[in-house]
Amino acid sequence: MAELADIVTGLGEKKFRAKQIFGWLARGAASFDEMNNVPLKLREALASEGYYIGQPEVVTEQISAADGTRKCLYEFRDGARVESVFMKYSYGNSICISSQVGCLMGCTFCASTMDGKMRDLTGGEMLGEVLRMKRLTGEDINHVVIMGMGEPFDNYDEVARFLRLINDPAGVGLSLRNITVSTCGIIPMIARFAEDFPQVNLAVSLHAPDGDKRMRTMPVARKYGYDELIEACRAYTEKTHRRITFEYALIRDVNDSEADARSLAHRLRGWLTHVNLIPLNEVKGREYKTAEGARVSAFRKVLEDSGVAVTVRRTLGSDIDAACGQLRADNKRG
Ligand code: SAH
Repeated sequence: MAELADIVTGLGEKKFRAKQIFGWLARGAASFDEMNNVPLKLREALASEGYYIGQPEVVTEQISAADGTRKCLYEFRDGARVESVFMKYSYGNSICISSQVGCLMGCTFCASTMDGKMRDLTGGEMLGEVLRMKRLTGEDINHVVIMGMGEPFDNYDEVARFLRLINDPAGVGLSLRNITVSTCGIIPMIARFAEDFPQVNLAVSLHAPDGDKRMRTMPVARKYGYDELIEACRAYTEKTHRRITFEYALIRDVNDSEADARSLAHRLRGWLTHVNLIPLNEVKGREYKTAEGARVSAFRKVLEDSGVAVTVRRTLGSDIDAACGQLRADNKRG
């Protein structure tokens, strides 16, 4: 809002115009022409100065007949493409957004990282993902999870900007408590995040019971060790008094044994954690298979018996390309 006020006054207009424009943006306006209480002269000046609204276009979408899950492939002005998913839960509507175009982290089970990273998204573009979905569905968005393509802590400043933008009471005004950020474990950013955004929920993609196993599927574990990661997460819970969620994708014969579950339980017992088990979404071009149902149940039981809070992620949109990055990979240009 302050930046917008500077722009507007710089163009010789009154400051209150910034509030009007900010309101229009938050209500999902995709062009200056829609802002009919803003003087035409100002709208034209904004466009001729090169300002534009960073809402993406929809290249293609898939809607699940089973549960209404809606997955969009978006395209920004420069041709950059990312995915976003809308999901309906009993507690409200949720959108999963991307934070980067592609990803550099190289997790071996993930489709988003196969072609590396094209660029970071800006905070405004992340907001655009939400607002475009709102417009498309005509529904409210109650929760936002930054669990799409990209590593949010590899683009910290713009993710922070997004959080402030969507939280601004003059705009969308979404509560920070209704937002979750998921990281692959860039340790220095965890402490910073606890400092900057203690109200935002944090999820950490763990996917392994120990450092050796984690290094096999997640290259980031070579830079940031397992013990250090667990320690940083524990410090986070002590500082914020907020429960941390560990995501654990169960991959057949890779990390899904009862011995794996026991060593995981040993690490997580006794502090503010919650494990979200995700049966792997199989990705074309990757050899990994999803864990069998019996293995998932046995894994869950070991954690439960050790007193670790655990849920198995409900699979929504199983009849569409659910795993992040697959829709984009299937729609390569040229
Ligand atoms: N870079 C962030 C957020 C993006 S991915 C992170 O690593 O947390 C969101 C979650 O989906 C992560 O836990 C990621 O590891 C997981 N994921 C990626 N590919 C998957 C697949 N094929 N099946 C199940 N989960 C997957």
